[in-house]
Amino acid sequence: MIQISFPDGAVKEFESGITAIEIAKSISHGLAKKVLAAKVNGEVWESTRPITTDSTLQLLTWEDKEGENTFWHSSAHLLAEAIEAIYPGAKFGIGPAIEKGFYYDIDFGEHTLSENDFSKIEKKMKELAQQKNQFIRKEISKADAIKYFNEKGDEYKLELIEDLEDGNITFYEQGNFVDLCRGPHLANTGSIKAIKIMSLAGAFWRGDESRKQLTRVYGITFPKQTMLDEYLIMLEEAKKRDHRKLGAELDLFAFSDKVGAGLPLWLPKGTQLRNNLEKFLTDKQIEAGYTPVVTPHIGKKELYITSGHYEKYGEDSFQPIKTPREGEEFLLKPMNCPHHCEIYKIGPKSYKDLPLRLAEFGTVYRYEQSGELHGLSRVRGFTQDDAHIFCTPDQVKEEFNKVIDLVILVLEKLGFEEYSAQISLRDPDNKEKYIGSSENWDRAENAIKESAEEKGLKTVIELGEAAFYGPKLDFMVKDAIGRSWQLGTIQVDYSLPERFELEYIGADNEKHRPVMIHRAPFGSFERFISLLIENTAGNFPTWLAPTQVIILPIIDQFSEYAEKVKIELKNNDIRCKLDNRNEKIGRKIRDAEVGKIPYMVIIGEKEIENNTISVRKHGEGDLGELTLNHFIDTLFKEVN
Ligand SMILES: [Zn+2]
Ligand SMILES: [Zn+2]
Repeated sequence: MIQISFPDGAVKEFESGITAIEIAKSISHGLAKKVLAAKVNGEVWESTRPITTDSTLQLLTWEDKEGENTFWHSSAHLLAEAIEAIYPGAKFGIGPAIEKGFYYDIDFGEHTLSENDFSKIEKKMKELAQQKNQFIRKEISKADAIKYFNEKGDEYKLELIEDLEDGNITFYEQGNFVDLCRGPHLANTGSIKAIKIMSLAGAFWRGDESRKQLTRVYGITFPKQTMLDEYLIMLEEAKKRDHRKLGAELDLFAFSDKVGAGLPLWLPKGTQLRNNLEKFLTDKQIEAGYTPVVTPHIGKKELYITSGHYEKYGEDSFQPIKTPREGEEFLLKPMNCPHHCEIYKIGPKSYKDLPLRLAEFGTVYRYEQSGELHGLSRVRGFTQDDAHIFCTPDQVKEEFNKVIDLVILVLEKLGFEEYSAQISLRDPDNKEKYIGSSENWDRAENAIKESAEEKGLKTVIELGEAAFYGPKLDFMVKDAIGRSWQLGTIQVDYSLPERFELEYIGADNEKHRPVMIHRAPFGSFERFISLLIENTAGNFPTWLAPTQVIILPIIDQFSEYAEKVKIELKNNDIRCKLDNRNEKIGRKIRDAEVGKIPYMVIIGEKEIENNTISVRKHGEGDLGELTLNHFIDTLFKEVN
């Protein structure tokens, strides 16, 4: 008999050689149907692989990333099987699961695959899936593995085998297809119900431009047709909401080749939006006890050698700036933390000065690979809503509570209602690889877990995911079309206080090291605004909209009255514009709708006569005739 421990702490006895799927069946058949794979002693396995030692067991379903990955990776095998059946002689590179779906890199020889072939491949995959072919795992010697692919004539697999150690090689077989693979996979192909080939791309073998270009076939699969349908609708919607497209349409930001890739130019409307966010956060941070600071965009190379950032970013990022002075070098700052550590060091600190919360909208520069650049969400220069909290070890929990409160306030104010937290802790079997005392780590890890629990956050705990210098909490948010994003990190750091030799005098009159907490609720303005655009589809809430009201006189003669309305609105701090163009009112309304301006004020003869305005709300339609004061009151209530 062996003992199986479950995630909830329960321990049950089973016969040695039992499989995860059999264990799931012993719990309930409903559960067994959902099981895609299993995590045995921390390693993802087939649900059909026999367990022969006392083990921890987590059953993986579609709800778990690893379950999803297993499903998609198994689908890559199914794709290859279908392709081999349709295009005999095709040779296969690698076929991993990706964030959404999977791909396989394939050498089709003489044939050039096109979109017209997709439905044929999908049909074959469905046919093969319905055969419910088992994924059969076989351990194989290196010699036999080489022999097999030599006979098959697949030089790509042969090259992959070369790098593997004998005794460590497995083949997986489903139906008529055999692949070199570590696994794991689904029990059989039967659970793959909905299949879509998405796109093609060229991919150099092993990412090496001097080698052959293979065809990368992207696909996605689901256990249910409805899930695929919903996914495709979501993709359509995502295309409409793409922040790069809306950013251009709404005149928010632009890029220029001459300025440089990945270096956004904020246009007047985008700048207004960004300033509104900045003001909102500044006010909230000051209420929460933060002290704003400003530090330069550059710092001496030695600063980043001390902080360790030179080692991390130096070689692969922007290179040092030289000065007329021999040997003097500066770096564009990749992080604000070193500057803040230097601020901490100005003047002696006592425990009474702590916590010290230094906040800065600090612009940092990192040389992302050009292939990685993406609109505002991956850039080379960006402004973090950064802050560093320096505190005593026993203040960590309270500071975490406060930061969580602030992040939740920000997320909810900006319309992100669904969020959860991911907590990254030490690897319990490898505690010595982390910097800082074990006692402080225990304290901080417990503090984070307790804070998250007290705040009622839905949390996932990731063991072994902590940085070597401290545990952290990441906020995950769901956007309006169901996509998940990582935002708002709160990171404990034991390393920088050490490197910068930060100290405070404790109540015991002795010197102590403070703990440092890095936190950024938005992450960066750039990334956050990209997300905000996609979440709202460009329909920003009125308090945030660059222009809140547009005034549309029906004809030119009404401009004087319109001008008076504008002045009155401006005097009430309402961001408004007057559309004085010599255009038909229908056209002006349409343009205002396209510009997604929350309110339109329409002025015609009747309004002038009654000393009123007519108001239309974007996306909602006519609000009717109002006095200007009534409108101002309504707006005031909405934005405050
Ligand atoms: Zn595989
Ligand atoms: Zn930092």
